[in-house]
Amino acid sequence: MFVGHYGISFAAKRLDKTIPLWVLFLAVQLLDLGWGVLVPLGVEKVRIVPGITASNPLDLYYMPYTHSLVAALLWSLAGYVVYRSGRGFGASRRAALLVAAAVFSHWVLDLIVHRPDLPLYDDTLKMGLGLWNYPTVAFLLEVAILFGGMLLYLRSTTATTAVGRYGMPVFGSVMLLIQAAAFFGPPPPNDRAAAFTALASYALFAAGAGWLDRRRA
Ligand SMILES: [Zn+2]
Repeated sequence: MFVGHYGISFAAKRLDKTIPLWVLFLAVQLLDLGWGVLVPLGVEKVRIVPGITASNPLDLYYMPYTHSLVAALLWSLAGYVVYRSGRGFGASRRAALLVAAAVFSHWVLDLIVHRPDLPLYDDTLKMGLGLWNYPTVAFLLEVAILFGGMLLYLRSTTATTAVGRYGMPVFGSVMLLIQAAAFFGPPPPNDRAAAFTALASYALFAAGAGWLDRRRA
């Protein structure tokens, strides 16, 4: 899953307004951020196989450190510890738990769309329900989660500027266009390009969300 993950960020922000939206944007993609670093280093492996699913050409054949269930739980724990201590233990336990849940939500949503490439632990017992083989349904699911979460967020906050009022829906539409390009456009030329594109888009999305969030209260 790609932009749909951010629906969880928006929903979590509604549950606890003390958590900066950019933190929640990074949290829901933490596993992929790790993946984007480990793939160019050769630690985790992916190859481009056009047609391996109907909408995603990535053969994610080795990613035990970021996308196994056990790894996802450990990354979530790390998210809890870092968020709680990074704020000088000023963050509430509930806020840190929400950050941890946001991190873990990535694995759950990935499980729905991936082909069976998500290991239980290490590189074995791989799972994935394969919704990527139904591009229209998979795309609509991303749209529904993203805008469902955003709607919850917009209804629980108020704009302090005009940019704050119209910025988020515009931002959401831009994310959707990028998602459509990834889904229906040409495949990335190689594994490194896929990793760097992911890292760059996640950083830009987090920066954009943080900037717009400061224009709402
Ligand atoms: Zn992922």
